[in-house]
Amino acid sequence: MADTSRRDIKIFGIPFEEAFPDLEDAEVEWQGLDVEGPPLTGEVKRMRYKAGIFLGVIPCDNPSCQGGGFEVERVMDRMFRTGDAERAGIIVCPGWEGDEKPCVRSISYRIKLVYKSKVQRRDPLTDA
Ligand SMILES: [Zn+2]
Repeated sequence: MADTSRRDIKIFGIPFEEAFPDLEDAEVEWQGLDVEGPPLTGEVKRMRYKAGIFLGVIPCDNPSCQGGGFEVERVMDRMFRTGDAERAGIIVCPGWEGDEKPCVRSISYRIKLVYKSKVQRRDPLTDA
């Protein structure tokens, strides 16, 4: 069931609804960028919390990358704190290729957050 799979969606290592209790839904679109900036493939990828597919950290697609990944959860956290519904930008991978060489992959992203209304937030059925 969708609700069961959503329980497995972790943000900062905790369930999504605990990390962002006021969010109804979240949607992220992204595409990988080449080193100079233009899109690598032009393929836009998407994930959506309500669809049961969501990652706090999008895996880096560089096979040599270690410890990398695109931390959309950090951007979402900043948006959540300021109440922003939409943000677009670029995230650079913080990973490394070997000992000295940083991973240079990046993505362009667009994040949309849907906040729960106050009425829904106090609904005992959804709080249970
Ligand atoms: Zn990387």
